[in-house]
Amino acid sequence: MEIAREIEGLKQLVKAAKSGGKTVAFVPTMGALHAGHLSLIDIAHKHAEFVVVSIYVNPKQFGPDEDFDTYPRVPEKDIELCKKQNVDIVFLPDNETMYGNGPQFITLKVNELSMHLDGKSRLGFFDGIVTVVNKLFNIVEPDVAVFGQKDFQQFRILSAMAEEFNHPVKMIMAPIARAGDGLALSSRNAYLTKDERILAPSLYRSLCYLKDCIENGILQPKTLLGHQKKELQEKGLKIDYLGIYDISSMAPVEKLTKNTDYLLAGAVYAGKTRLIDNLLVHIKS
Ligand code: AMP
Repeated sequence: MEIAREIEGLKQLVKAAKSGGKTVAFVPTMGALHAGHLSLIDIAHKHAEFVVVSIYVNPKQFGPDEDFDTYPRVPEKDIELCKKQNVDIVFLPDNETMYGNGPQFITLKVNELSMHLDGKSRLGFFDGIVTVVNKLFNIVEPDVAVFGQKDFQQFRILSAMAEEFNHPVKMIMAPIARAGDGLALSSRNAYLTKDERILAPSLYRSLCYLKDCIENGILQPKTLLGHQKKELQEKGLKIDYLGIYDISSMAPVEKLTKNTDYLLAGAVYAGKTRLIDNLLVHIKS
């Protein structure tokens, strides 16, 4: 496995792989790798002969009151995990490599797709993500890129970005990897205290209950959502959002239509830690 810290070095390695006839899959991450990230790498191997993983905590996607400084950074451990997963290149750029030292004259901005869910409460979050992934796609030039369903809105927005900016990349969405009690794996779970960790899977349990009710015929679930929010609050979680969303526009939906897929998604705070999770729901005809 090669470790590239500079863009030119990475490009040379990818170019050599491509000229040897290999297709390239790319898994962008912020590191502190867990089994969710590793499952993305497994999927990447199924789609291409050469796998590139980037590890970069992108400052542009953190708000001023967010956890950029404290975000877990364990590059040596991540490198070992990537080796075990047979990754071909780990790309580990620093901020100067990604953004240079001078001013940035161009800003990418996500419109309607970032108005709800995480985009609503994390201003500028998706602008930062499209900026870095657009750059990473230009640097790596992958044939395939793998992202997790856990960040469904991110996948939707990045798919739009790939299409609108003509990146010739196949976008693949991987299922959510969970702990035994259902909690979606996340690098931020490391922040949870023992009590918060016990409370954390309640979000997943609420989503499962709601999915069951909806798939069994409750097509106007506003009251049901209200009850679940109240229950989660009573348990001690603070709700950011809990709702049902159109999988294309990412807008909230109140009345569900048969023969349609929806995103059932929630974000809550356990103490200071923000947890997100979602399930896809299909309403049968
Ligand atoms: P991050 O390092 O949090 O930026 O995540 C990097 C990639 O891993 C993103 O595409 C995430 O959606 C994905 N990911 C994070 N957690 C999970 C999980 N529990 N299951 C599947 N994919 C995940």
